[in-house]
Amino acid sequence: LPQRYAGTKESVWTEYIQMAIDYKPLNLGQGFPDYPPPQYIMDTLSKVGNGPDYMLHQYTRGFGHPRLVNALAKLYSKLIGREINERTEVLTTCGAYEALFSAIMGHTEVGDEVIIIEPFYDCYEPMVKYAGGIARFIPLKPKPVEGRLLTSADWVLDKAELEGLFNSKTKMIILNTPNNPLGKVFTEQELTHIADLCKKWNVLCVSDEVYEWMVYKPHKHIRIATLPGMWERTITIGSAGKTFSVTGWKVGWAYGPADLMVNLQMIHQNSVYTGVTPIQEATAIGFEKEMERLGSEECYFVTLPKELQAKRDFMTKFLVDVGMRPTIPDGGYFMIADWTPLESQVDLSSEKDEYKDYKFTKWMTKNVGLQGIPPSAFYSSPDKHLAEKFVRYCFFKKDENLQKAADILDKWK
Ligand code: PMP
Ligand code: GLN
Repeated sequence: LPQRYAGTKESVWTEYIQMAIDYKPLNLGQGFPDYPPPQYIMDTLSKVGNGPDYMLHQYTRGFGHPRLVNALAKLYSKLIGREINERTEVLTTCGAYEALFSAIMGHTEVGDEVIIIEPFYDCYEPMVKYAGGIARFIPLKPKPVEGRLLTSADWVLDKAELEGLFNSKTKMIILNTPNNPLGKVFTEQELTHIADLCKKWNVLCVSDEVYEWMVYKPHKHIRIATLPGMWERTITIGSAGKTFSVTGWKVGWAYGPADLMVNLQMIHQNSVYTGVTPIQEATAIGFEKEMERLGSEECYFVTLPKELQAKRDFMTKFLVDVGMRPTIPDGGYFMIADWTPLESQVDLSSEKDEYKDYKFTKWMTKNVGLQGIPPSAFYSSPDKHLAEKFVRYCFFKKDENLQKAADILDKWK
């Protein structure tokens, strides 16, 4: 590898997806639903593919398929409370990954500091490094609670520590709400504190909001771009994969003020240039339908979190029953749980990894037939020890498979 990429290792996804293929465990690892997305979404894609408009099989506009940027601009204008220009303020990308990459590459000068909140979606750190930036980390830490389970809201930043990270070299902070893997939904108060620091130090906020529709009552997703003085300095990122439960579609987007979006457009223009036309068309049709029924009981953005909340509660129960200590997530479709009460039942000596959560998840995959993800993958090296006693499970699975997971754990215990 060229020097600037030195230290890049195989990611947790590459490694654990291969393990899932090799050992065929019940897979609660990588995040994706194991049952069909809404029927109309599948129909939309086949109609686009077989429809009369054969031009949908050719290249489309580079910065975003017109019908999709139009739908995104309409939807987010409403949600953000300002007119978003579909040509200059929205970019569609190959998944949220490419939106993150373009935002980070497009804005980071060599030597710039980028603040990353732990646990963080694992690609942020290498992306900052590839751009020549210096990542500065701050962990969310659980407050001690008594007589009840932790919830993701109990995981908080130390205010003084956060303030101490901002300085004249800080270019950007990367926020992820709802957070993967914790499920933390940042509150207005927490976001205001971050926003005030961004304004004080003239820092850009890249807000990864791919789980924006998966928020459980009574919690509310707040877009940091809506806070006073933040539109000007925020790039917000979303994903069709998460929005419509079609992770294989790999359509994402970024929106923000035109002067910030230009930098992303330049990276996109000279790497990917233009996204997949039929899938962008299908995504646009999906948004048009949901916009018609936005907020109503039938809207997918209302039915989906309800469906997931029941799955979350079911998983909480079976993890508690087996003796683990889950943190109940307020958003997203992952749950982390402290597995160490079961430590005496596992033999970690057979696994060679440095961190115990890797050993535990590998041992479980091979010996118990249940796969989770080691959360230390979401921490910087010096902080990985903070995650060793946890495992991450995805609960966006058929009830039948969640029941199987419960049975596997029950039998093992
Ligand atoms: N950000 C977060 C927090 C994620 O969990 C994911 C999941 N894949 C992504 C970005 C990337 O999304 P996409 O699949 O649309 O590239
Ligand atoms: N975002 C998903 C997860 O966190 C998928 C990750 C991936 O495939 N890279 O599990």
